[in-house]
Amino acid sequence: MAHDYEHLRTDTVVGYLASVPALAERLDLTDVATIEEVGDGNLNLVFIIEDRAGRGVVLKQALPYVRLVGPDWPMTPERARHEHEALRTYGALAPGLVPDVFAYDADRYIVAMEDLSDHRVWRAALNDGERHDGVAEAIGGFVAAVAFGTSVFGIDAEDHKAAVGRALNPQLCRITEDLVFTEPYADIGRNSVDPDNEEDAVALAGDSAMVAEIGLAKWKFMTAAEALIHGDLHTGSVMVRDSDATRPVSVKAIDPEFSFYGPVAFDLGALWANYVIAAARALALGEPDRAQWCLEQAPPTWSAFEKGFLERWPGRRSPEVFSDDMGAAVVNGWLGDTWLFAAAKMARRIVGLAKTTDIETLPGPQKIGAARGVLHAARMAATERHAGRSPSRFGELALETLRGVATP
Ligand code: ADP
Ligand code: MG
Repeated sequence: MAHDYEHLRTDTVVGYLASVPALAERLDLTDVATIEEVGDGNLNLVFIIEDRAGRGVVLKQALPYVRLVGPDWPMTPERARHEHEALRTYGALAPGLVPDVFAYDADRYIVAMEDLSDHRVWRAALNDGERHDGVAEAIGGFVAAVAFGTSVFGIDAEDHKAAVGRALNPQLCRITEDLVFTEPYADIGRNSVDPDNEEDAVALAGDSAMVAEIGLAKWKFMTAAEALIHGDLHTGSVMVRDSDATRPVSVKAIDPEFSFYGPVAFDLGALWANYVIAAARALALGEPDRAQWCLEQAPPTWSAFEKGFLERWPGRRSPEVFSDDMGAAVVNGWLGDTWLFAAAKMARRIVGLAKTTDIETLPGPQKIGAARGVLHAARMAATERHAGRSPSRFGELALETLRGVATP
């Protein structure tokens, strides 16, 4: 595939905005105040352009390779289309919970969207010790709206199949299949851990019960075309703005370039895993209360999901056979799978290629204990889910596990 389209640069973005009428009208291009490239992500270019009146637009462009690595790691820019289509679908189903999309450029793989500069990336806020109430509920509600509204419960069977086809995202799915579900257990040379955590990584890969659970998780990820899941819903894909006297808390899911029709619990598990990772950091920094708060986000994430899903349930298709009992069984299955996918997501963040700043920015000795704690929590979650699924139990067991191995 030849991809010789023009990449955006700081000195070309204003000209680009001027060339797209739907964007040119969003801000005063004769009075631009700032142009910033803020892509702290590993994959894409993200520009924020603001005028002096404070109006802004964000342009996100996918390159035909992984930005962090360069042309040596090619990656389809079609991921921008997936991001665009998911954002449109999500915006319709979960109003206010994703950035508004203004335009999509299919030739240059550019998504133009709402400027969320008055929000913070949730992971960064958590790393700074902030606590934002209401975010867990909002994001659980987001997953519910998408789970119902893109599934066979919410849309016609033929439309669902067409949507599954449009959303096929094989290259990005393979990244998850490799990095999340395979390489932590069968290193191909891309894993890395601190030498002091080497024994923890070896124990993980040698834990046959864990590996069997991960195999099951991988298979579900590869085959369960339940809903248009986000596919990368960690705390770095959530932006938050606190409430103030005039506005409630604002929560936005960003960056659904990994979206495809997959298992609903994958997104919920990603959130839970990152609560554990945030808790491990808090504990390592000597803030046990905040660690507990981080883990207390798991139950409301789940309950808001469950509530949002069941609220929509009376309007489902095929109620003759999609009975209330059947719906309850589906939700219960998702709860068990949330533990499972949380386990997978925790482990990959410690031993796999892509790490988190929560752990990586800790000072040496604390980092080792936190990493060990997250790996132990991953192994705990994969097997303990069979003994009881409640989200509060997940949080309690995770905290106990982290406490048990933390370096003082
Ligand atoms: P990538 O896919 O490369 O990881 P992201 O979509 O995660 O890119 O965006 C990278 C960073 O850019 C985010 O962490 C956030 O700081 C910033 N960002 C992304 N979208 C917006 C937006 N709509 N408004 C403001 N900042 C944004
Ligand atoms: Mg991304």
